[in-house]
Amino acid sequence: MLEDKNQERTSLADLGEFGLINHLTKHFKMYNSTTLKGVGDDAAVISKSEKEILVTTDLLVEGVHFDLSYMPLKHLGYKAVMVNLSDVYAMNGVAEQITVSIAVSNRFPLEALEELYAGIQLACDTYKVDLIGGDTTSSTKGMLISVTALGSAKKEDIVYRNGANATDLIVVSGDLGAAYLGLQVLEREKQVFQVNPENQPDLDSYTYLIERQLKPEARKDVPELLKEMEVKPTSMIDISDGLSSEIMHICTQSKVGCKIYEDKLPLDPQVISTSEEFNMDSTMIALSGGEDYELLFTVPIADFDKIKGNPNFSIIGHITEENEGMNLVTRANQEMELKAQGWNSFKG
Ligand code: ADP
Ligand code: MG
Repeated sequence: MLEDKNQERTSLADLGEFGLINHLTKHFKMYNSTTLKGVGDDAAVISKSEKEILVTTDLLVEGVHFDLSYMPLKHLGYKAVMVNLSDVYAMNGVAEQITVSIAVSNRFPLEALEELYAGIQLACDTYKVDLIGGDTTSSTKGMLISVTALGSAKKEDIVYRNGANATDLIVVSGDLGAAYLGLQVLEREKQVFQVNPENQPDLDSYTYLIERQLKPEARKDVPELLKEMEVKPTSMIDISDGLSSEIMHICTQSKVGCKIYEDKLPLDPQVISTSEEFNMDSTMIALSGGEDYELLFTVPIADFDKIKGNPNFSIIGHITEENEGMNLVTRANQEMELKAQGWNSFKG
């Protein structure tokens, strides 16, 4: 789709670096009063508030983290912002600013970067964050994109990974495994397409999965909901590498164990039907498939009534003493030790 001959192709060299940056960033709106100066000077200026500042960065590399043969550039821009905002929300914070740094080879025309920035802008407008700077350089091969997000939270509101206590409930937002299966569907279609380019894929029964892979949403609403419900999690993390590896981070850092119940894992009907089609175990996918960008957190057992019945949340287990280990209780009521099968090892 990128190399479509009908599309206009303006060489990046024609614009020059300053023209390019200005062209890409001039339509961005500023939403936060803490942004005093955005793009255009030697450094952005952010007003220092009474709150604590949260900072997080992710680097995405073409061929490692994304494949442009099925990832439209607009979606890539959107997703690159989402993965960072998700980290700010996982600290129970509010995201306010981002910087975006890109390295691109001359195989990309201006129109490609316009698409990338259209996705970044949609993310900024939807999540009310300000693009305040970045860096632009060339690469000999492919594209790299690095986003840094800045956010804030009151000191007493920040939630770390290390505060879980035995008997706490383990809660997850949304559902699990869909983004991983979306990737499997896209990879399969890519292979079909390589064999027969005339073949029009029928993706109707996978729409939710593909959307979760190509256009993930960070759970900005979760910190807001928790505040409304007057619940402060004892620990929290976002699910980028799969439930299993994330709950292990919480347990290791909190020096506790856990029990996760297989029959409590939230699965979309498309996850169930598509994992059957791919001959994969939906529990494995929920545990080890990555990129869901849901939030995983623990709350004191006294908050049970506040969480139960809320359609945004599923209680999937509880924290135990460290010496009990980290376990999955299967539907057959057997205990299995959780394995740190993150995204990468699962993929391999
Ligand atoms: P310097 O040479 O001082 O690093 P640059 O020419 O790289 O300045 O950047 C000029 C301005 O444009 C700065 O505000 C910088 O943060 C911003 N900027 C540069 N590249 C990007 C980009 N890819 N996206 C957003 N802002 C950018
Ligand atoms: Mg620079």
